[in-house]
Amino acid sequence: MSALEIREVRKDFGSTRVLKDVSLAIDSGEFLILVGPSGCGKSTLMNAIAGLEPVTDGQILIGGDDITWRTPAERDIAMVFQSYALYPSMTVRQNIAFGLEMRKVPKAERAEAVERVADLLQITHLLERKPAQLSGGQRQRVAMGRALAREPQIYLFDEPLSNLDAKLRVEMRTEIKKLHQRLGTTIVYVTHDQIEAMTLADSIAVMRDGHILQLGSPDEVYNDPVDMFVAGFMGSPS
Ligand code: ADP
Ligand code: MG
Repeated sequence: MSALEIREVRKDFGSTRVLKDVSLAIDSGEFLILVGPSGCGKSTLMNAIAGLEPVTDGQILIGGDDITWRTPAERDIAMVFQSYALYPSMTVRQNIAFGLEMRKVPKAERAEAVERVADLLQITHLLERKPAQLSGGQRQRVAMGRALAREPQIYLFDEPLSNLDAKLRVEMRTEIKKLHQRLGTTIVYVTHDQIEAMTLADSIAVMRDGHILQLGSPDEVYNDPVDMFVAGFMGSPS
C-alpha cells in the first residue's frame, strides 16, 4: 500500500483547469521531487494534498485511507513553504510547539518534542528568540522544526530553500538529505533547482501544464526522458 496516493485529481479555478487528472503513488520513506515550470500547478497540487484547497474531482489517500474531504488539521501531513510563515509574536519554542498545542498534545510531551527537533536542527540556542531576531536560514530551520515536531506521516516541502542564498541552500539541502536518511520520512518536495532534484530524489515527477509527464528515478528521468520537454527541463544529454 502506498503512503500517499493521488488518484485522478482535478482542480479548476473558475473556468481554468489547473490540475488535469493527476495521479501519483508514493511509497513509505520515499523522497519524491516534483519539478516543472512556474505556473504548471505544483503548489496547487501540494495545497490539495495538504487540504488547503478543495479538489474539484479525484481522491487523495494516506496509508489507504481516503482523506480527500478531511480538513488540513485532520490530515497527518506537515507542510513547509517558501515563505516561512512563523508567528512573529511567538518565540521559536512557541512556534515549534504551536501545532502540537492545536492537536492537544500534553505540555510535557510538547516540551520534549521541541527539545528533540531543536537538537536535530541545531537551533537549541535560538529557542527563546522571536522570528525577527533570526536570519533567513535560521527561520527556515524553525519552519522545518515546526513540521518535524508533529512527526506526521507525510511531509510536503514547497520550494523551501528558494529564498536562501546559494551557500545556505547547499547546507540546508545536505541537512534535509541527512534528516530523511535518519528519520526515513515520506517527502514530497517541490523545487526548480535541478541539482537539488538530482541529489535529494528517490524519484522525480516532471510536471507541465497540470499533467505529470514522467515519473521515474533520477537516472531514468535524466537519461531516458519521455520527450523533448523533459529532456530540456532536466538538462539531459539527448
Ligand atoms: P506552480 O507552483 O507550479 O508555479 P501554481 O500551482 O501556483 O503553479 O499555479 C498554477 C496555476 O494556477 C497558475 O496559472 C496560477 O495562476 C493558477 N492559480 C493558482 N492559485 C490560484 C487561485 N487561488 N485562484 C486562481 N488561480 C490560481
Ligand atoms: Mg509554486
